[in-house]
Amino acid sequence: MAITHFELRKRYKKFMIERGHVEVPPIPLVPKDDPTTLFTGSGMQQFMPNLLGEIHQSGTRLFDIQPCIRAQDIEEVGDNRHTTSFEMIGNWSLGDYFKKEQIAWLFEFLTQQLELDPHKLFVSVFKGIDGIPADEESIAIWQSVFQKIGIDAKLGERIFTYDTKNWWSRAGSPSEMPSGEPGGPDSEVFYDFGTPHDLAFGPECHPNCDCGRFMEIGNSVFMEYLKQPDGSFTPLPKKNIDFGGGFERLLAANNDNSDVFLTDLYKEIMQAVELASGKQYASENKMPMRVIADHIKASTFLIKQGVVPSNKEQGYVLRRLLRRAAIKMRELNGHLTPSDEFEEIVSAVLRTYSGEGLYFDTWGEDRELIFPVIQEEMCRFGKSLDKGLKEIEKMEEVNAKQAFDLYQSYGFPVEITEELLQQKGKKLDRDAFRAEFEKHRALSRTASAGMFKGGLADQSEQTLKYHTATHLLHQALFDVLGNDVRQEGSNISAERLRFDFYHVSKPTEDQIKQIELILNKKIAEELPVSFVILPKDEATKLGAKSFFKEKYPDQVKVYYIGNTLETAYSKEFCGGPHVKNTKEIGSFSLYKMEKIGANMFRIYAR
Ligand SMILES: [Zn+2]
Ligand SMILES: [Zn+2]
Repeated sequence: MAITHFELRKRYKKFMIERGHVEVPPIPLVPKDDPTTLFTGSGMQQFMPNLLGEIHQSGTRLFDIQPCIRAQDIEEVGDNRHTTSFEMIGNWSLGDYFKKEQIAWLFEFLTQQLELDPHKLFVSVFKGIDGIPADEESIAIWQSVFQKIGIDAKLGERIFTYDTKNWWSRAGSPSEMPSGEPGGPDSEVFYDFGTPHDLAFGPECHPNCDCGRFMEIGNSVFMEYLKQPDGSFTPLPKKNIDFGGGFERLLAANNDNSDVFLTDLYKEIMQAVELASGKQYASENKMPMRVIADHIKASTFLIKQGVVPSNKEQGYVLRRLLRRAAIKMRELNGHLTPSDEFEEIVSAVLRTYSGEGLYFDTWGEDRELIFPVIQEEMCRFGKSLDKGLKEIEKMEEVNAKQAFDLYQSYGFPVEITEELLQQKGKKLDRDAFRAEFEKHRALSRTASAGMFKGGLADQSEQTLKYHTATHLLHQALFDVLGNDVRQEGSNISAERLRFDFYHVSKPTEDQIKQIELILNKKIAEELPVSFVILPKDEATKLGAKSFFKEKYPDQVKVYYIGNTLETAYSKEFCGGPHVKNTKEIGSFSLYKMEKIGANMFRIYAR
């Protein structure tokens, strides 16, 4: 009998707490102040500064369950394991325990709590590359934990070694790392579903084979080396553990079925998709149904976090998710303009993820918020499709380039173009269309390269400066405009900072000037930037500002700008990092302000 997702959450939390870990709340799906990534794509994202040395308020043993979105391979959704939306479980040791505890605990969790058959577990470890030796220590620990339950874990049989596949650093392989960069070997755990190997993927099966027999369910990164200026590696003085495991995949392993869409997380959602499409989740329907289930789930999470469909950044991804879901629905039920078919699927997502400690607390209200956004976008898309249809009607012939333009400008599915051409007794050159499509995809990938490195909080000097300046700006807005000011969000790029806030009336030009003067004065005073760790209530009593959209743990870090906590100019809940002194910010100007909603304003500074 498979365990439920509620049960898995409960067991994971209990297991981690019993081993001295503190639970850290997940961060928003749209990360704050991180210009390198559109979405939170891993559990470790919020701990990146801590893995690089910043102290964490909750201690040195941490864990979380983090909802994630990975949009870069949206077109690959449809098989039994890839999704754009998923959750990750993770645990961290910041200079605390290391390999011995991590491997033994993980093995215990997988075999005792998740109840996996240890005979079906396989692991990979680092083989050694670029002068760094193989991870013999991990091999020995894995062998000993398997030995304890009577399994002789031989190298090449149960334990496999790989080179760059089992190395982690922000920059990639050891030779690509810049001086001063930390990194280390990692060790993945795979579950064997026992399906026969497909020779199309190579002569022999192994954990990283793509035939579908093995599924990676978790990865422990052992951050233990520091790259030196001469290219050599020395041991890190404080070694860290970063573990991440795919929540849906762990459930699939427990279910002993490699289809994550058959876990209880997707039970209600898939039933709703079946109902809306009038089709069964079987054979050729599986692919489109998986896309609908995943995309509507991802969209529901994004809209809850304030993302709305648009033509750029997060809003564009949301638009694509919804349009792709609409197209797949049409594939299943033949309707060209989707209407309310999606409401029940949204409700199923909300019900699945409601309950204590989950993401939607009042699913009735959330539906009121989320569904209208989806409905409007689906309507708009329906109109687009109609327009595209008229375009096609007007054309005498449609070549591959034109079919692609229709796809590009109206989101017009090539399948529909093909159908219509068939009705006219014509044929679309599918290969030529594909070539157009690939050309575009290569271009858009290049354009977004660097956008999706995933989990790599940007710590460039400029980001630190701008981020620290948002603290000063926040306080200066209070000083000049009064206590009704409320931060609504902020966003930082290499060129500027953007700060959204609520205020009863539009700030005057004079007020903006005053705010700018205060900022530059505080920078000129060369104030130190420091932090204290306090219980949340105490920090609030001190008057430290918090961001109402964010969940904070019981212990919080308060960063203050000034000589002492008592006399500080700014006090704010924040994990860091920041510059050490305001003088590093340099001169500062508020160059633009705009109204972005009722009593909502956006200020730009650089
Ligand atoms: Zn294989
Ligand atoms: Zn901060």
